[in-house]
Amino acid sequence: MSKKIYITRKIPETAMTMLTEKGFEVDVYQKELAPSHKFLIKQLKKGKYDGIISLLTDAIDEKVLTASPNLKIVANYAVGYNNIDIQKTKDLGICVTNTPGVSSVAVAEHTMALMLALTTRIVEGDFFITRLGKFKGWTPMNLLGTDLSGKTVGLIGLGNIGSRVAEMVHFGFNAKIIYHDVSKNEAVEQKCNATYIESLSDLLAQADIVSLHVPLLDSTHHLINEKTLKQMKPSAFLINTSRGPVVDEKALVSALKNKVICGAGLDVFEFEPKLTPGLKNLKNIVLTPHIASARISVREDMAKIAAQSIIDFFDGKVPGAQVNK
Ligand code: NAD
Repeated sequence: MSKKIYITRKIPETAMTMLTEKGFEVDVYQKELAPSHKFLIKQLKKGKYDGIISLLTDAIDEKVLTASPNLKIVANYAVGYNNIDIQKTKDLGICVTNTPGVSSVAVAEHTMALMLALTTRIVEGDFFITRLGKFKGWTPMNLLGTDLSGKTVGLIGLGNIGSRVAEMVHFGFNAKIIYHDVSKNEAVEQKCNATYIESLSDLLAQADIVSLHVPLLDSTHHLINEKTLKQMKPSAFLINTSRGPVVDEKALVSALKNKVICGAGLDVFEFEPKLTPGLKNLKNIVLTPHIASARISVREDMAKIAAQSIIDFFDGKVPGAQVNK
């Protein structure tokens, strides 16, 4: 009997084609926004699925994991897998995979876009000329920005994405790189002249721009909070393209209002899609709606990895992207 796979949202056709060609029966949730938790449980119970391709907006908890008695694999269509109860999957013997590496350049480029938008005041300039209609001619003191070149960029997390940002910042802007991570990355140290800083507070005190590239874990939840924001320079910018809850958003709004730090560029939010009150009214921010990896080629590659993980798993192989070995 063919194995049944449920995909919790429309993703590139490649995934469906790969799976059906291998004899899988595939059902796809057709609406644009995420299915509710209740719907997902009901659907899995009804369909007795053997595997699912889930998205980062699906809470894959015990109730979801036990809804179908046949469930053997959850292929998460994302790099991060903080939406999945990993301990429970281990207890239940369910394989979990992610889509590592393929979005790193896109996310790093988006990080650079947020950095440059802040240092060059691109968004404020656009408003000034368009919505506000204030541009009456060149003036020497209007919307003065700051250099990125030669500045100190502090990277928190120097894995796949952090390493790509380090390369862009080093080779493109000759900026000094300091980084904090739970493990050292000697290859990037050598390639980009990056300096490891063991203490997070030392990194925060030295960096002109702090950029977050850690997974969301208990150890990284609210890593940036009222206390750590105060350790940053008043002239510094914070960039977050990792996961929203790495930053205490209420503390960030307060720090931005009170000029504890100079500005922030965010692609991810603590209570996505809700924004903490006050955030969107600030002038010293640039916000994007979780689109750092939103490229056709990236989405295609993610679809291929997710489908291949399921194919490999049911072929009796250990998927290369398994995260809960
Ligand atoms: P990665 O696993 O390659 O790198 C993460 C790094 O963080 C590793 O070097 C790890 O040692 C380090 N780390 C872990 N815990 C830490 C801690 N407590 N303190 C300091 N460092 C710690 O992951 P990646 O591919 O670079 O992705 C990083 C995160 O970016 C993902 O987990 C995901 O949440 C997020 N992401 C966001 C988007 C987006 O669209 N905005 C897209 C892809 C990934």
